[in-house]
Amino acid sequence: MKCYVCSQLGDETEAIAICIVCGMALCKEHVIREDVDMWEGGYPLPPQKLKKKLPRVLCPECSEAIIK
Ligand SMILES: [Zn+2]
Ligand SMILES: [Zn+2]
Repeated sequence: MKCYVCSQLGDETEAIAICIVCGMALCKEHVIREDVDMWEGGYPLPPQKLKKKLPRVLCPECSEAIIK
């Protein structure tokens, strides 16, 4: 799969991750990782069973919408 952001810019970069919110494929240049404890919106795992923070992989657009 190719990075969605790169393809919009006319590039073809192999994607290494997928935004967990919108499902957009992302290369390492465009992926945004947010390691956060709490995230409202119903993550499928119960928080009390997590020993570590989960990496949340987001695209730039979803990151802006959720974090800021
Ligand atoms: Zn990219
Ligand atoms: Zn997204």
